[in-house]
Amino acid sequence: MADSIVPETAGDLKPPDTVTTATTSRVAEDGALTVFSRKTDRLRKKHEKKMRSPLVDPAGFLDLSCDLLLDILTLLQPSDVVRLSRTCKALFRLVTDEETVLAAFITRWRYPSLARCLALPVRVQDVDPAAAEYLASPERQHIMTVHKRGYQHVLPPDQTALCTCLTCLLRWNSLCLAVDFAHWQDNLDAGWPIPVIPRGRTPEWNEALVERNAAVVRMALRRPLIHARILEAHLASTCRSIRRHSENKGNQRRRFRMTKEDEQAGTDAFLERSGPPTVDFPYHRDNYYMLEAYLPNRSWNSEESAWAYVPADQHDRDVQFVGKLVELRRGNPKAQKSRMAQAEKGELDTESPKQELDAARVLHDTSHTQP
Ligand SMILES: [Zn+2]
Repeated sequence: MADSIVPETAGDLKPPDTVTTATTSRVAEDGALTVFSRKTDRLRKKHEKKMRSPLVDPAGFLDLSCDLLLDILTLLQPSDVVRLSRTCKALFRLVTDEETVLAAFITRWRYPSLARCLALPVRVQDVDPAAAEYLASPERQHIMTVHKRGYQHVLPPDQTALCTCLTCLLRWNSLCLAVDFAHWQDNLDAGWPIPVIPRGRTPEWNEALVERNAAVVRMALRRPLIHARILEAHLASTCRSIRRHSENKGNQRRRFRMTKEDEQAGTDAFLERSGPPTVDFPYHRDNYYMLEAYLPNRSWNSEESAWAYVPADQHDRDVQFVGKLVELRRGNPKAQKSRMAQAEKGELDTESPKQELDAARVLHDTSHTQP
């Protein structure tokens, strides 16, 4: 039997001593054949090595590499990421450390339109000190009164914490409104009336609500993930609103085309299609009943068949403009009068002639009232 394994010509192929050793190792003392195979030898060694190594814990979610974890998290909704960060210390630390990157990725693919409609105002600490000083001045605050008047559903911005250029004021109002609009969606879906607040009254529940809304927006200034969460909530409000009005056959007004797939996609892609522009700020909660898509800071460009958004650096332009006014204020009154005359004729090289005109008027008035 041994002959059938060892080639007949083995003696011719190997040195005599080698043949002897190999033959000896394959035949036991009792004459039985010892089975030999390179394959079984490899398997035996592998098994012995495995038995010697310590036991390995089963792999879990947190055993994945950091890059892989972040890739997975960017696929989630912002609210899910926030919830996940509350499940354990390790995930809390990961989400907190990588919040800026995570929020940027999620916003870029889920809410590219809403992010431009509902941009964040700038904190006063990030504004040029000279411009900030003028922005906080009483005459400037007087100009902006119209934009911070006491809405029942929006708390006025804190001028010591936020830039009060026109752009930032409008951004603050829009974000607070988005949070408030989300709060009343269940009422609007069910047809329950929103409580009416008589003029001049300030019920406690409303004070608490607008303060809570403002606190969310203030938190979004520090935490990009909370800003993304507001965008998520506003997309949900917009979808619910469009669906609500679509079901109302009596309402034949123009609206965004939204399919079931659009609604389930969890992105704002369908809002890039042509649709009704947002013209007015909903100055009262009564406006919520007919509000379908509140998408400020953009207008439809029919030549390019696309939405044109207010530039992201509009705050910088406003602050630069304010800086010019500060210089004018320090200059002679004649220059101010000339500037105002230019503004009235619309000859100023500015993208905000109305602001320039308003501000120049106040400066002009101030120059007369100052000693
Ligand atoms: Zn600003």
